[in-house]
Amino acid sequence: MSPDASPPAERKAAAVNSGVHDATAAATDAANVRLEKRRSAVVLLSGGLDSATTLAVALAEGFDCHALTVAYGQRHEIEIDRARSIALFFATPHRTVNVDLASFGGSALTNVDDEIPHHAGSEIGAEIPSTYVPGRNTVLLSMALACAEPLDARHLFIGANVLDYSGYPDCRPEFLQAFEKVANLGTKAGEDGGQPFRVHAPLLNSTKADIIRRGAELGVPFQLTHSCYDPVQDSLACGLCDACILRRKGFQDADIEDPTPYAG
Ligand SMILES: [Zn+2]
Repeated sequence: MSPDASPPAERKAAAVNSGVHDATAAATDAANVRLEKRRSAVVLLSGGLDSATTLAVALAEGFDCHALTVAYGQRHEIEIDRARSIALFFATPHRTVNVDLASFGGSALTNVDDEIPHHAGSEIGAEIPSTYVPGRNTVLLSMALACAEPLDARHLFIGANVLDYSGYPDCRPEFLQAFEKVANLGTKAGEDGGQPFRVHAPLLNSTKADIIRRGAELGVPFQLTHSCYDPVQDSLACGLCDACILRRKGFQDADIEDPTPYAG
């Protein structure tokens, strides 16, 4: 903490009024600028509930956030539109980049010809589902890293969660820790010996109900978030896919109203 707790603008005004150059205040301001740079973060924003809450957590923790949406070839554009609206809601700078994971196949989330599976609630997470996208979180974190380095941001936020989606290996804490090592070993910023990269997954061990409660506290606009893997007429949630089932149950468990219109 600075010994002078007054806001920088007031300090500056005081220094001008006294007509004396205040070297201490100038040095403190420079230190604050460096601190702000160190607190810059890139937040992966998919348009879903978890990533929107992750952005709200990062903002609440005082990070200067840049939201990044990766259009990886999802079947439905609605996620990208929702991500844009959520970033706008939080007045956070936002960019979307395209990475064509669909051309590699291997996922029901990118192949329009694949059936989206329906499971009973208790079966979800028991095995790796067909909605797993090969390499997705590795690619998303790599894009966040590439976005962060030139921004001087050293914090990467991802809404990964192990409880509801235990079937996705790229949500495991070991994976996220390993990626943090990759970030520090494979970048110019990591070589410079300054602030190391950190991967934050603040919802990693939260249940969906916990995430929704936390989101509600932080003012997440749930009506803008989209979870459904298989929307009807491109915008209405199906109510039957794994993502819809987990979302509905989460709102029920949290005893908070789900603003999502469901088709079924
Ligand atoms: Zn659905």
